[in-house]
Amino acid sequence: MGITICDMYGTVGISLVTPVISAAMLEERDFDPTSICLIRCTELSDDDVFACWSDRVTADRLRIPRDRIMSLEEFGSLAEFQQLLRPVCHKCFEEWLKEQRSR
Ligand SMILES: [Zn+2]
Repeated sequence: MGITICDMYGTVGISLVTPVISAAMLEERDFDPTSICLIRCTELSDDDVFACWSDRVTADRLRIPRDRIMSLEEFGSLAEFQQLLRPVCHKCFEEWLKEQRSR
């Protein structure tokens, strides 16, 4: 997992999200929480799951599976999706997500 410097939390881990989500988060805009999709793929073992977040429109457009955990190989073939992903502060993202879900 990558590392970033956050104004609020200092050195923190990153979450990878699509640009629509990072923009909404940074601009503190409300976002329909049902449109925020968890995308998962296995890393080296089944216990080790890599996760990132996509908005529903992007996931639909690129046909990203949301109902199962992809293999590393399958995820690796999604070049267009991977290039879209933006790193954001993990803690700020978790807080923002919680806020969206509690509205
Ligand atoms: Zn932060």
